[in-house]
Amino acid sequence: MHVKNVELKYPTKIRPVFFADAMLGSIARKLRVLGFDTLYIRDINDEDVLEIASKLDRVILTCDKELFRRILKIGAYGALLDGSNDLDNLIYIFVKYSIKAVDLDTNCSRCVVCNGFLEHKGITEIDGNSIPPRIRMHYKEIFRCTCCNKSYWKGSHFQQLRKMAKLIEARLKSSP
Ligand SMILES: [Zn+2]
Repeated sequence: MHVKNVELKYPTKIRPVFFADAMLGSIARKLRVLGFDTLYIRDINDEDVLEIASKLDRVILTCDKELFRRILKIGAYGALLDGSNDLDNLIYIFVKYSIKAVDLDTNCSRCVVCNGFLEHKGITEIDGNSIPPRIRMHYKEIFRCTCCNKSYWKGSHFQQLRKMAKLIEARLKSSP
């Protein structure tokens, strides 16, 4: 009778959508870059996280044991992270939610700021004032958020993210 807080199993055929708690901005940004729909609200209390996530069937990501206990109690989905490093935490999330592969595919990446979809634009389609001139000289393609209009290009930060995606991919392949 004491087994009460049994963790709900997330349907394996559905690509999970996430809700990162207020401490996990960095994880939220990485998930968005990798194309995962991830809500992140910096100033939000635990009650609201629980309510919104369970209404929207989102997996709550948290390092907070107490919040995780409440997730289990209300029958929401969750992953308890240990806060050590983002890479280990991402692997943990992907293994737990049966995500076998990730790719830094700009066609499905989301805006790190607002979680909006990105659309591909040629540099000439972008208004001259919104991109620094040195970027205009070096990059032919721009990815623009359809919600907040933030622009992205494949600069050094993108190369670092690509490395991270490759590392994750390798670790997922070697995990049982
Ligand atoms: Zn955006």
